[in-house]
Amino acid sequence: MATKYVYFFGKGDSEGNATMKSILGGKGANLADMASLDLPVPPGFTITTEACAEYSEIGKDKLFAKIDKEVVAQLKKLEKFTGKTFGKGPNPLLVSVRSGAAASMPGMMDTILNLGLNDVTIQAMIKLTKNERFVWDSYRRFMQMFSDVVLGVEHHLFEHELETLKHKKKAKLDTDLTAADLKALVDSYKAIVKKITKKEFPQDPIEQLWRGVQAVFDSWNNPRAEKYRQLNDIRGLRGTAVTIQSMVYGNAGEDCATGVAFTRDPSTGENAYFYGEFLINAQGEDVVAGIRTPQQITLAGSKAWAKSQSVAEATRKSKFPSLEEAMPKCFKELDAIKTKLEKHYKDMQDLEFTIEKSVLYMLQTRNGKRTAQAAVRIATDLVKEKLIDEKSAVLRVEPASLDQLLHPVFVKASEAKAQKIVTGLPASPGSATGQVVFNAEDAEKWAKSGKDVILCRIETSPEDITGMHVSKGVLTARGGMTSHAAVVARGMGTCCVAGCSEVLMDYAKKQFVVGKEVIKEGDWISLNGSTGAVYKGQIETVEAALVGPFAEIMKLADKYKKIGVRTNADTPHDAEVAVRFGAEGIGLTRTEHMFFEGTKIISFRRLILVAEEVKKIKEAHSVKSVYDLKSGKDCCMTKEQAAAVKQYKQALDELLPLQRTDFIGIFKALEGRPATIRLLDPPLHEFLPADEAGQKEMAKTMGVKLDKIISLVAENHEYNPMLGLRGCRLGISFPEVTEMQVRAICEAAASVKGSKPEIMIPIVGNVKEFIHQKEITKKVIAEVEKEKKVKLEVKIGTMIEVPRAAMTADEIAAEAEFFSFGTNDLTQMGCGFSRDDAGKFLKDYVKLGIYEYDPFVVLDQGGIGKLIKYAVELGKKARPGIKLGICGEHGGDPKTVEFCHNIGLSYVSCSPYRVPIARLAAAHAAIKQK
Ligand code: PEP
Ligand code: MG
Repeated sequence: MATKYVYFFGKGDSEGNATMKSILGGKGANLADMASLDLPVPPGFTITTEACAEYSEIGKDKLFAKIDKEVVAQLKKLEKFTGKTFGKGPNPLLVSVRSGAAASMPGMMDTILNLGLNDVTIQAMIKLTKNERFVWDSYRRFMQMFSDVVLGVEHHLFEHELETLKHKKKAKLDTDLTAADLKALVDSYKAIVKKITKKEFPQDPIEQLWRGVQAVFDSWNNPRAEKYRQLNDIRGLRGTAVTIQSMVYGNAGEDCATGVAFTRDPSTGENAYFYGEFLINAQGEDVVAGIRTPQQITLAGSKAWAKSQSVAEATRKSKFPSLEEAMPKCFKELDAIKTKLEKHYKDMQDLEFTIEKSVLYMLQTRNGKRTAQAAVRIATDLVKEKLIDEKSAVLRVEPASLDQLLHPVFVKASEAKAQKIVTGLPASPGSATGQVVFNAEDAEKWAKSGKDVILCRIETSPEDITGMHVSKGVLTARGGMTSHAAVVARGMGTCCVAGCSEVLMDYAKKQFVVGKEVIKEGDWISLNGSTGAVYKGQIETVEAALVGPFAEIMKLADKYKKIGVRTNADTPHDAEVAVRFGAEGIGLTRTEHMFFEGTKIISFRRLILVAEEVKKIKEAHSVKSVYDLKSGKDCCMTKEQAAAVKQYKQALDELLPLQRTDFIGIFKALEGRPATIRLLDPPLHEFLPADEAGQKEMAKTMGVKLDKIISLVAENHEYNPMLGLRGCRLGISFPEVTEMQVRAICEAAASVKGSKPEIMIPIVGNVKEFIHQKEITKKVIAEVEKEKKVKLEVKIGTMIEVPRAAMTADEIAAEAEFFSFGTNDLTQMGCGFSRDDAGKFLKDYVKLGIYEYDPFVVLDQGGIGKLIKYAVELGKKARPGIKLGICGEHGGDPKTVEFCHNIGLSYVSCSPYRVPIARLAAAHAAIKQK
């Protein structure tokens, strides 16, 4: 059967439905669905995403030849359905041409309204509507959109013309312009088009239609759409569908309106009132463009808005009445539709509607974009309302989005003391403190250099998304809760205060003025995206708490997840934070990080200074440990050698109690939860100063000549340190360091009741390396048990981070009680990518699709994943019930968590702030598996 490329929708006659999003796009599928639900949807038809994909493959001419007949037939059907004719009077059919992919990408692709207008149909429209002003207004809008989207004539040229005319006519708003003004504007628009394109504005409606369709297809690959897909990890879609829908007019007079609404608050998820904005006598993009101040849908919403904007009740009522007050009949109908749609889709909806001559039409419904705060609230509320079950609620919250809820919030007392300069709309919650910048490029530049920035704009546009993405917060002077800035910031989880009308942005001077305050580029301001408050200066922040609906959703996640979630924590503070976020223990403590605190680095440098010398002495005396060397007169050591041995032992003696204190802190914070503690891992040069100033300082502290330190650094230089003297190789060369660390762990465990240490040997590639270190570890455990008269519960295991370890995991599992996959090094050694250098080229690899994701961020399941799977099989065969974890950075990545669940690991381990993300991802994996 020939492929069907075009699907009709209209009351009682829809060829598509809501399940067909992949071919009709979200918009096309839901319009068909709404029409089937008997809702007032203007009829139309949708050209499939398949056509868009073929457009890219075979080109415009071949594709259009293929779909021409279908499109023309559907257009005829639409004419019949509406009783109008395309391109002709007496009742001309005008259409909108709108984009819509399977995943919603608000505002990223192109739309054209009022298509079909030309110098002929406009006269018919005037005759028909007897509303000359409205018709010229529609024509000038169409010309501007079509010229911008299809002809490539820049938007601002038309805006400039409009502003000049408004100025000349002393018109404050577009709606103050008369029919004659707009007619003149159309003439000037025609002149602009002629000047730029050297051709007349296209008059043939069929040509307009095809060129519109082509432009929408092209917009699938425009840079902002590509960037949006990249930022939101939208993959695997074939293209955009194109929906051609008969026009209804919100700009045909005072009994007309257009609006967008959310069935629940997209910022907080609250279901207090029907939430949205509209404008009377306006069309399409006016509401989101932020040019006029939009009005609220409900009376309650309107009153809340007036309060936040300090608008007096009398002014609100006369100038900004709610839809509930201004058009009560339409409001009632819309409110009923809202309830019907929520029940039907079982989710919060984002609606677009138009009222033409007091008749309501639905133009769109889709699952609304929401902040993470709103997502958890809506999901848990929908369970309580019995619209969805618990598992669906868990799946409704994107694990990665929880990151938004884990960021610090303002300390209440500091916020109370801060100087508030203005209040805007609380467009996207959270708190942000940063330095002011006035354009997206500067935001990117400043953020790259490590600065926290707040992007301040009159209003944002799709070109700003990269700048918004790197900013801590966004402040706009214009636009409502559904403005571009608000919608996009919420989608990104970026704090945003929008529509601060008292703020005068001055891009030229790179400053904004509010009242008497002048805030210049680089000045610090703070935003509270939940209240809309804007403060001068920085405000102190505190850790976020896991409470309310967030806690409820995490409880549900724990109910369904199978795999454990631990944390990577090197300090008691990190461990405490992670436990608060639900960590079931520590999966990795990198003990070397502790060496940089306080005086530990000095002691350790003293040890490194004589380590090689001591090693040689031990070899000369054929002893394994420095403690086996005889002391005193019969030791046959020179004075220098004896001093080196003394210094080595002294450094270990100094380090032991310090490390013990570290471990005591960690065990206490864990309150009986297990802790995997890894013995020293990095190459020695990392502990030595690289620059001259540091080396001078070290020489002074150690009481040696600078030359000695310089040569020490040179001796420890390695061409490939990540494959050099590190991990268990250090413990094999300097076994006393292993002894000291194991002793510190065991003594700490003996002093904190319920401690469950798991000692982990790093960089093992050969089972004999493991056995060597295990013997030392066991010996020290026995010593401490004897000395302290306790029985310790200590497990000894290893990291699997060298490919050879994965391939010989059965041999290793025979000796090791647990494995933890160190996927950072396993990726480095398995893919042959240097962890430190691969950033340079991996971006290109991802762009070219050589790797789907950066393999250091998302586990390369096809390669490194196979090594892990193999090691799991071998490990389980050799030691059934072996504990298996992952502690590389991948442990907090939702896709990797799903993989770990599927291959039967016991737990994942990740940084404290990713623990809730991993818990939710683990629940998603378990629910999806069934
Ligand atoms: C690893 O290699 O995955 C790991 C956790 O160790 P590190 O990152 O400390 O090398
Ligand atoms: Mg490692």
